[in-house]
Amino acid sequence: MEKNEILSRAQAAFLGLAIGDALGATTEFMTPGEIKAKHKVHRKIIGGGWLGLKPGRVTDDTEMSLSIARALVTAGEWDLQGIADNFVTWMRGKPIDIGSTCRKGIREYMRKGTLEVPLNDWDAGNGAVMRMAPVALFTLGDEALLETCSLAQARLTHHHPLSDSACVSVGQMVQQAILGADRFQLHAITRDLVARHPNFRFNKYRGHAGGYVVETMQTVFHYIFTTAEFEECLVGVVNQGGDADTTGAIAGMIAGAFYGLDAIPRKWLRKLDPSVRQEVAEMAVRLVNLSPLMERGRGDSPQEASVELSEKFA
Ligand code: MN
Ligand code: MN
Repeated sequence: MEKNEILSRAQAAFLGLAIGDALGATTEFMTPGEIKAKHKVHRKIIGGGWLGLKPGRVTDDTEMSLSIARALVTAGEWDLQGIADNFVTWMRGKPIDIGSTCRKGIREYMRKGTLEVPLNDWDAGNGAVMRMAPVALFTLGDEALLETCSLAQARLTHHHPLSDSACVSVGQMVQQAILGADRFQLHAITRDLVARHPNFRFNKYRGHAGGYVVETMQTVFHYIFTTAEFEECLVGVVNQGGDADTTGAIAGMIAGAFYGLDAIPRKWLRKLDPSVRQEVAEMAVRLVNLSPLMERGRGDSPQEASVELSEKFA
């Protein structure tokens, strides 16, 4: 895979996350029936939802991902404390939404300075998986590092075997998709996950799309493997309702990496909050430039790779 193609797929992963968040926020906590009655099929970034968002506005899923990205880019290396500090700053800024498990974990860090919450049966929410994109980009080219960093970032707020495993699997799917994997190779990652945790089986999808990480991942996997385009995948996911901004964010990062930048509808890119769009695209390139994959090639290419994006949004 050519370097520019890798960078552009990395951008598509991070942009896909933000788009899924912005698109899905409209139908968060709705049932498929309520969505159908109100929107027929929800497929436009129009804001609203229970948070009353401006069109294109993102929520905690994207904001926490950016908190991670900024910490890593600022440090130029893995910096768990930097990530935790950015979570604190973000929470103090009164975010439009924050999950209860995330809030509890961040409070615990503020009180005790600990970088890992204790193992907890109630931590099987999707709040750690939704912020995996920057970790996958930063560790591109090193699967062992991906696993270490995934668990470390996850356990700042969530410490549960199902959350842990889902984080690693999503990170692997994003990385392998960026590096050119086909859908069979991506499916193999889900089979591996199901072999370890049969709860994640999704071959008989029952339409539950809540914040429990098992339901979230079943929804994401179902639509990743039953659709053939970025747009249809995300439309399917967010019309399932439930934790739609988060299923949208996770499906968006995988589908973005898999289908690439050109597959993301221009109308969605244009609607996305411009400052978020800009920062997410820039962070993706900077994270990949810090990754083992790029470090390895540094000798023969001293120039940092970059991708000109502006014409893509025109
Ligand atoms: Mn959210
Ligand atoms: Mn959510």
